[in-house]
Amino acid sequence: MRPVYLDNNATTRVDPDVVQAMLPFFTDHFGNPSSIHAFGASVGAAVKTARRQLQALIGAEFDHEVVFTSGGTESDNAAILSALEVMPDRTEIVTSAVEHPAVLSLCADLEKRRGITVHRIPVDRHGRLDLEAYRAALSSRVAIVSIMWANNETGTIFPVAELAELAKEAGALFHTDAVQAVGKLPIDLRSTAIDMLSLSGHKLHAPKGIGALYVKRGVRFRSQIKGGHQERARRAGTENTPGIVGLGKAAELAMKFMDDENTRVKTLRDRLEKGLLQAIPNAFVTGDPRERLPNTANIAFEYIEGEGMLLLLNREGIACSSGSACTSGSLEPSHVLRAMDIPYTAAHGAIRFSFSRDNCEDDVDRVLEVMPGIVEKLRELSPFWAGVGEAPKTFNPVYA
Ligand code: PLP
Repeated sequence: MRPVYLDNNATTRVDPDVVQAMLPFFTDHFGNPSSIHAFGASVGAAVKTARRQLQALIGAEFDHEVVFTSGGTESDNAAILSALEVMPDRTEIVTSAVEHPAVLSLCADLEKRRGITVHRIPVDRHGRLDLEAYRAALSSRVAIVSIMWANNETGTIFPVAELAELAKEAGALFHTDAVQAVGKLPIDLRSTAIDMLSLSGHKLHAPKGIGALYVKRGVRFRSQIKGGHQERARRAGTENTPGIVGLGKAAELAMKFMDDENTRVKTLRDRLEKGLLQAIPNAFVTGDPRERLPNTANIAFEYIEGEGMLLLLNREGIACSSGSACTSGSLEPSHVLRAMDIPYTAAHGAIRFSFSRDNCEDDVDRVLEVMPGIVEKLRELSPFWAGVGEAPKTFNPVYA
């Protein structure tokens, strides 16, 4: 039976066209793009093309606003650390309680070791940002706001363009971790006040270990990696040229498939959600019902362990995730679901199904076929479910 991969927010399959585009850059075009001889020049031209392809995907005004990095984590760190350095008089950061560890761990470290004040803006039950708390946290002490475009676990989308305007009024820089949004949502940075944006290749069918940081023209930037003058001295180190070429090709393909992501893929996601919620009592969608990534379904099944479901699904050849890939392995519900104040009895049983253009109707059918049985089996073993007894079972009002 064909395996069913529904963990695309953790990572995506590299597109075969991306692989084809990259291959010559391991063999024939192996030159260093900084070299002035012919070997270097052809590679330099390919890097330039990739920069333009990425510029087009995110609607950047100038191609040199794109700085290639090793991925989302590096881009997030680079943006925040740079802001603190270029604005030494400002010692506060505003972020959200549901960011990826690439932002939250760095903030915790800065708080502990450098005495930086970090405002972690809370979210509501659907993962939506508390705008009042956000406004209250902004002041002339804030160097940078770092708020994600879309959450990796629930898919909830934040109104980053509006948040960036407010940050600008306070004189703070605005950075967004758009690792989960780029390639899934149309983005036009030209028309926003966003100063910096992080993206990662492996979330959009390019390889792991390549990503980019967008730095708006005119925004002061100080690199933490010291060395050569690559990337206009904003990211030292010989460029990962096959990765860059692959990311460029992936950006071009993402533009081509953007409609598919927002129509066919979304329809698959919606059919899965609806089917599961109709078949399984005491289950609900955790993300924002309206402002949500088209590919992400995070469903909490009450009174069971997500890990148990993952193992049984895995036996059926179905791959998905409980919480984010980085937090699975620990039995604590993820920091995202805790911040949303989802009761422990539900947060423990939250499963994330994340689609991509590689998925089809059969994948949805397969999950709908096996999931009700798995949940029933695990609930039979659950002392919590026994406690629920004959109490009326609840179906999600949105879909029931
Ligand atoms: N930010 C978000 C929202 C993510 O989902 C991830 C990856 O899971 C990252 C950052 C880290 O990106 P990378 O794996 O490229 O370092």
